[in-house]
Amino acid sequence: MKATFGHMGTLTPVMEMILEDLGHESVTPNRPTRQTLALGAKYAPEFACIPFKIVLGTYLEGLKKGADTLISGGGYGPCRAGLYGELHRRILNDLDHDHDFIFFWPPLRKPGHFYRQLHKLKGPHSWRFLWKTIRKAYGKLAVLDGLEMRAQFIRPREYKRGSTSRAFDQAYALMRRARSAPEIKEAGAEARAIMEKVTFDQTRKPLKVGIIGEIYVQLEPFANFFLEEQLGHMGVEVRRSIYLTSYTRHDVLSTKGDMSSRRLAVPYLAQKVGGHGQNSVGDIIRYAKQGYDGVVQLAPFSCIPEIVAKSLVPRLSKDYGIPVLTLFIDEQTGAAGVQTRLEAFVDLMEQRRHRGQREAGRSSGPPDSPVQDKIS
Ligand code: SF4
Repeated sequence: MKATFGHMGTLTPVMEMILEDLGHESVTPNRPTRQTLALGAKYAPEFACIPFKIVLGTYLEGLKKGADTLISGGGYGPCRAGLYGELHRRILNDLDHDHDFIFFWPPLRKPGHFYRQLHKLKGPHSWRFLWKTIRKAYGKLAVLDGLEMRAQFIRPREYKRGSTSRAFDQAYALMRRARSAPEIKEAGAEARAIMEKVTFDQTRKPLKVGIIGEIYVQLEPFANFFLEEQLGHMGVEVRRSIYLTSYTRHDVLSTKGDMSSRRLAVPYLAQKVGGHGQNSVGDIIRYAKQGYDGVVQLAPFSCIPEIVAKSLVPRLSKDYGIPVLTLFIDEQTGAAGVQTRLEAFVDLMEQRRHRGQREAGRSSGPPDSPVQDKIS
């Protein structure tokens, strides 16, 4: 089969590897562009969330490049994630595309269906071979997550603007080429060495921001206007609430999601509301407790779970003394508007930090009291 799939951050080289290991041709999607989004938006329902539109545009591009099979996965609601696969399938059928569609529900929700889809994908290979491939893929994801985290740490401290992103691109290309387990190990070590060659100011204490919200707009840089890079270049260290390995552990191999943030959310939001809405509430609390300077919530326009979380933001912000910027994103959102809002948010956090330091200097409290405790 010639298979394509949606582009989502660093998942792409891993999907490519799995498909090729199983003897398929990977019609690997390029990073989405404005054209991809316009193509998806043309055929998607107007109020569909932006991840749906970008992924639909990516499928259409893949089919044009000769793919005959689409690989997709989806959530189980109660938001629209539960309908993603079926809706994509119907839209593409209406457009008369001749293709097969392999759709994965979370394995623990529909084990029988998951098994049948996996059977289709593995072809003549043994289950043992498939298991080894999946384990290897998880190992590759773990290295890629580690590289992303390292880039997020170094970027706001780099001496030469852009050097971290260039090193990351080099490291990413190396990882993409690595196929066997020993190659992944070797490429991982080389990739880490490339990152460590970036010179940076070890004494700097940049602002720290937690990124929370819906998974696709968190993980796909095109969908979030390259937010991590933008903030890094403004001198801000970021940390996301979702990485691919944590998502795999909490949401694919479990039906519970990330319990550490869900538990924190309970006094404010006691039940799941779909997507990562409840997690977003808990993540704001977690980042505040860890002394972060602020939180950016990323939400596709009309995303119900994130709208629910957003309704609690003023209270959380007040109770925990942490500023939260919510960015609702759709195809009308402009890069300049996002940049302006980020710059204003960074200014606000800097002022709060300086004010906190001045107040800490005046107070007789312990010198390492968290700044957030002193800001109402
Ligand atoms: S989590 Fe939000 S963006 Fe994702 S499918 Fe649900 S409503 Fe849409």
